Amino acid sequence: MMTADNTHHWRGELLYDEPMAEHTSWRAGGRARRCYRPADREDLCTFLRDLAADEPLLWVGLGSNLLVRDGGFAGTVIFTFGALAGLEWVDANTLRAGAGVSCAKVARECARQGFTGLEFLAGIPGTMGGALAMNAGAFGGETWPHVKAVETVERSGRLHTRTPSDYRIGYRQAEGVPGEWFLAVQLVTARGDVAAAQSRIRELLARRGATQPTQQYSCGSVFRNPPGDYAARLIEAAGLKGLQQGGARVSEQHANFIINTGAATATDIETLINRVRDRVAQVQGICLEPEVRIAGLAPDAETSG
Ligand SMILES: Cc1cc2nc3c(=O)[nH]c(=O)nc-3n(C[C@H](O)[C@H](O)[C@H](O)COP(=O)(O)OP(=O)(O)OC[C@H]3O[C@@H](n4cnc5c(N)ncnc54)[C@H](O)[C@@H]3O)c2cc1C
Repeated sequence: MMTADNTHHWRGELLYDEPMAEHTSWRAGGRARRCYRPADREDLCTFLRDLAADEPLLWVGLGSNLLVRDGGFAGTVIFTFGALAGLEWVDANTLRAGAGVSCAKVARECARQGFTGLEFLAGIPGTMGGALAMNAGAFGGETWPHVKAVETVERSGRLHTRTPSDYRIGYRQAEGVPGEWFLAVQLVTARGDVAAAQSRIRELLARRGATQPTQQYSCGSVFRNPPGDYAARLIEAAGLKGLQQGGARVSEQHANFIINTGAATATDIETLINRVRDRVAQVQGICLEPEVRIAGLAPDAETSG
């Protein structure tokens, strides 16, 4: 059970020994030594300034692209969801969203105001911070082409406003200045039609529901698509649908999804990821790269209880 610490001057919520399975969509994995959910941006900067210089940090939005190994994370997790909130129009077509705002909320707000282009975000079950870190995308849309600027923080608590030209942006990746994290994004949208945008959202969600196991615990696509091909096609062609490792299974519905059938450990999931990667390399001669982020320690390296 988590404990809060009231002996400091921060205004956020500090938790110890927090099970990360409760904060990741795979619902598996170890514990974090400490987690902090800041009260707001200013409080976050104070907290960061007070951290030991060598404290390992892991930023987590909705944990929908993250596996924390069973040995846990021996450092501090920063939670952004429910913390870095705020969604406002800063001019006629620029929407500013906190890094902890869900992608779905951004998509709905744009559609409601009659702006188009961000409907693809509706079915991505993460935050805007995660979408920036991953350059999340779907159905032909990607996050970064819509970014006008991002607001970031470094460990010292120093703030920056950066533009896309400060980042190396690619398929499911965005590399910027090391040691900076996203606090907010300014998104440029195009004038459209409310009914058309809302209907596009419904259509994309229906397509997703028909092709992906959205009701099961997963992290979405496990592997990046290799150039000119699809990871799901390669995995299926290698005969791996339904392959099981402990409580983890390659989805029958979408071969690039690994499902936690109920009691999977992070080790089950990571072992299955490796088995799929090795088998596809053997059969297809293509080395798939994971899209999901893996953090933390292997179980035998477990630190504290
Ligand atoms: C059912 C399902 C469907 C999915 N479909 C898609 C899809 O269509 N397209 C797609 O691209 N993805 C998809 N995903 C994956 C996932 O939703 C996206 O990658 C999403 O952008 C992750 O956001 P998050 O807030 O959950 O990030 P997390 O999982 O919490 O974190 C992911 C990475 O981002 C980093 N990060 C998080 N917040 C910040 C921040 N503020 N600053 C810096 N780094 C940060 C984390 O440290 C971590 O490395 C799907 C996942 C599921 C479960």
